Amino acid sequence: MFLQCPSCRSTRIAANHTGRKVCTSVGTVAGAASALSAASSGARLGAVVGSFAGPGGAAAGGVAGAILSGVVGAIAGGTAGAALGDFLDENVLDSFECMECAHTFSVDTD
Ligand SMILES: [Zn+2]
Repeated sequence: MFLQCPSCRSTRIAANHTGRKVCTSVGTVAGAASALSAASSGARLGAVVGSFAGPGGAAAGGVAGAILSGVVGAIAGGTAGAALGDFLDENVLDSFECMECAHTFSVDTD
């Protein structure tokens, strides 16, 4: 993408991914939190699968299922958060800064 400062026409532009960083963090936490509620079903599923390997397998499967649910939820939340952050960076926030005159601006999609 070719970027130019709308103030001084310089092409020395730095991108600030503030929205992306914030939203990725928030999304990861939110995803992990919502996954916690799903973790019990993940644990049940893991216990069922693990039970085929015996009594110890049921316990290990339950733990693995709960952890897996949490990790998957966190990744999904973080990915969604990053996408939302990118959208905010590009459309709402002043996400680019001119290195020449320090003017901050967002992408003009026109
Ligand atoms: Zn400038």
